[in-house]
Amino acid sequence: MKYETVIGLEVHVQIKTKTKIFCSCSTEFGKPPNENTCPICLGMPGVLPVLNKRFLESSMKACLATHCTIEPMNRFARKNYFYPDLPKGYQISQMALPLGVKGYININLDGTRKRIGLTRIHMEEDAGKLIHGENLGSPGKSYVDFNRTGVPLCEVVSEPDMRSPEEARAYLGELKAILEYTEVSDCNMEEGSLRCDANVSIRPVGQKELGTRTELKNLNSFKFVQKAIEYEVERQTKILDQGESVKQETRLYDSDRGETFPMRSKEEAHDYRYFPDPDLVPIVIDDAWVEEIRKTIPELPEQKRERFASSYEIPEYDAGVLTSSKPLADYFEQCAALLPQPKIISNWIMGDLLRELKKDGKDITECPVSPSALVDLLKLIDSGTISGNIAKGVFEEMYQTQKPANQIVEEKGLTQITDSSAIEKIVDEVIQANPSQVEELKGGKDKVLGFLVGLIMKASKGKANPGMVNKLLKEKIKQ
Ligand code: ADP
Ligand code: MG
Ligand code: ZN
Repeated sequence: MKYETVIGLEVHVQIKTKTKIFCSCSTEFGKPPNENTCPICLGMPGVLPVLNKRFLESSMKACLATHCTIEPMNRFARKNYFYPDLPKGYQISQMALPLGVKGYININLDGTRKRIGLTRIHMEEDAGKLIHGENLGSPGKSYVDFNRTGVPLCEVVSEPDMRSPEEARAYLGELKAILEYTEVSDCNMEEGSLRCDANVSIRPVGQKELGTRTELKNLNSFKFVQKAIEYEVERQTKILDQGESVKQETRLYDSDRGETFPMRSKEEAHDYRYFPDPDLVPIVIDDAWVEEIRKTIPELPEQKRERFASSYEIPEYDAGVLTSSKPLADYFEQCAALLPQPKIISNWIMGDLLRELKKDGKDITECPVSPSALVDLLKLIDSGTISGNIAKGVFEEMYQTQKPANQIVEEKGLTQITDSSAIEKIVDEVIQANPSQVEELKGGKDKVLGFLVGLIMKASKGKANPGMVNKLLKEKIKQ
């Protein structure tokens, strides 16, 4: 390890509002092209933008939830450039005076906590969307959809504090969870409401100054963020190893090929000629307003994680998985309220439940097994009605058919055999049928015990109480 990796992320988050940032057009996703437009978001001359208060307050919430200081006075500026998806010829954004500064997010990786600094959070408007004819069967033509123009965004800029692709991924996961918990964004990466640019550089271990960075644009999934950074670190390492130097440039990630390629170099970098937008008044925020917003912030992922670990006495790892999304945490708490066996519940959620959901590509909010249905299943194990193993099959069936656990157990005759004479009979049969293994066991070869228990369980179709099987078998062999 000759080099150290340095990463800073710029994340664009679409803030959940009914209407756009400076007009009353809808922000609804998936509408026919150019339906959600008006003279203001189309940038017609003579119109006046008016800031969406709801957006401002949600942005304040995002700042406070990430420990940013809210500036008492902030302002919008014009960022000038020409591009066909930008009808005004400038984007309204914040430059010199952003809404929030100097925050941080704590991430947890392999049991250690690390603080990642936030440089700033600022408000801005989104641009439109270009659709190229190649995808529509009319090559050579391009189309523009202004529905996204003026959709409200926050840009969250981190300090160059991350040291590995895994840390970058963990940071993004934590940021996403915070924004979802506070309900300021739905963070839907497929719909583009969370987009990430990664700035990556490497430097010889021990060197103070940062290396030359490249910026990887528009990474639209957690996996791509990690993969693109991994590729980029490898590429820069080769360059430095050859005694050459990294060029500062913007690059794109090709997820099919797993490579990054240059988009534009620093020499082509724009001069955006920022200046304060004369159409919008400066925003003045007093302490009382900040405190009012602070009151609306719910328990955040980190606090929930700590509470889960301490009050339910589950491992920190479990607490981390269960609080990774608020609906998942709610699901767990609903179960735990019905059955005071948090670790068992956690095992079932993290194991069988999440596995089934993943197989289906479903979210916990679409889970066909409700918390009370899961608890009913766990109660059947607790009472000894079915074994844990049988319960796994029952769970799968509950997931598929939405039938209650006891109905499945009844219909299939899965009730555990706890009648010792019935179990004894099977034990005797297995002992008789396997004399040589029994001799080995008597001779001290303990491994054979598991083999015989397996045969007995199989003979009972998994229904014999495993504890009783073990006990009876040991008693018989000793005789
Ligand atoms: P720009 O606006 O040109 O992208 P900024 O100074 O705002 O530049 O930096 C953007 C991001 O790049 C920040 O997240 C910052 O932490 C990160 N960054 C800056 N320098 C480096 C570097 N040498 N290596 C990695 N990340 C960096
Ligand atoms: Mg940048
Ligand atoms: Zn509009």
